[in-house]
Amino acid sequence: GANRTKNVLILMSDTGGGHRASAEAIRDAFKIEFGDEYQIFVKDVWKEYTGWPLNDMENQYKFMVKHVQLWKVAFHSTYPRWVHSCYLAAIAAYYAKEVEAGLMEYKPDIIISVHPLMQHIPLWVLKWQGLHKKVIFATVITDLNSCHPTWFHPGVNRCYCPSSEVAKRALLDGLEESQVRVFGLPIRPSFARAVLSKDDLRKELEMDPDLPAVLLMGGGEGMGPVKKTAIALGESLFDKENEKPIGQLIVICGRNKALVSTLESLEWKIPVKVRGFQTQMEKWMGSCDCIITKAGPGTIAEALIRGLPIILNDYIPGQEKGNVPYVVENGAGVFTRSPKETARLVAEWFSTKTDELNSMSENALKLAQPEAVYHSSFVDEGVTKACGCPLLPLKSHIKGPAPASDQD
Ligand code: UDP
Repeated sequence: GANRTKNVLILMSDTGGGHRASAEAIRDAFKIEFGDEYQIFVKDVWKEYTGWPLNDMENQYKFMVKHVQLWKVAFHSTYPRWVHSCYLAAIAAYYAKEVEAGLMEYKPDIIISVHPLMQHIPLWVLKWQGLHKKVIFATVITDLNSCHPTWFHPGVNRCYCPSSEVAKRALLDGLEESQVRVFGLPIRPSFARAVLSKDDLRKELEMDPDLPAVLLMGGGEGMGPVKKTAIALGESLFDKENEKPIGQLIVICGRNKALVSTLESLEWKIPVKVRGFQTQMEKWMGSCDCIITKAGPGTIAEALIRGLPIILNDYIPGQEKGNVPYVVENGAGVFTRSPKETARLVAEWFSTKTDELNSMSENALKLAQPEAVYHSSFVDEGVTKACGCPLLPLKSHIKGPAPASDQD
């Protein structure tokens, strides 16, 4: 019936922190906008239902991004459609039953994928089930610029792109204009709606009330030159002449537990807080004055909303490379791989170059798109409304289950 609660299945994976953050952003926005009309499931169906290699993506990803050359080869060699299509089709055939069970358990009316490897297989399964005309399938891309083509599947109802750059790639890759929408990256509503003042946040987080603060992180996995940068900041933010700190440091290591214990064992001359995975990033960002991070799209988008000038100290080859010019050319931050240079910059921002810090902060706010999640929760799209009664012309471009047929 029309009034039945609709089920939304969001497909994600904990490869990095960005996919989960976007999935939760969409879930929270659905709740705020639609209350109980929709029941939202955020799932890694691969991990819960299938076997190797799908159920082990987190570790494979961690391993590969640690050995950056490997990731480069994997990213670029799977670029051609025939390569990833064949590979994914083979896996789809092998795990068809399991994936089907995983998808169907949630009886989805809408499936939203926020992961580059979660288009092909679910769409094949829907097709095999004869459900591709009944279930709305949308992709929400979480890379800002140079994204992998597995994100683009012509069989989706909607493909939400966080930038026009990504939308252009989608069109080049065979999606129709009617399928593509450009909204920002979905950001958790707690970021958009943060109301606490910096002073209150610092009290709550037990930080120094007066010293300027720098936030140092490396995505969900705590990657990049975090340790060296922390040590360099420990020196540069200490005024040797007056024997007092000119700033304080917050290091958030995500799931990198080894990094937490290494940093906790060190002695510091300035106030330092070291933390593992945090669930309230908006508070830490709201209490700091600038941020140092690898070029993760989630962290960048959140930092822009909080008006934090950004020092990018690393990027994952392939999908994160394009994020660097996005930040730097818009005057919201700088790129340097050198921990010493990073430490020197922050010390300047906190002493002689506060003007530069302030103007970068203004540029960051100009780039921010805090309301993006409300758009990508399909409010003005009618996608949710179309659920069950296909308002949208459902154009399935998938021609049969054979892998070769998905090629142009
Ligand atoms: N994040 C978090 N808690 C942490 C560390 C990171 O919630 O302790 C979130 C962060 O706010 C961001 C995401 O994880 O939303 C990281 O995404 P990004 O795209 O920057 O990098 P990834 O980890 O996906 O490579």
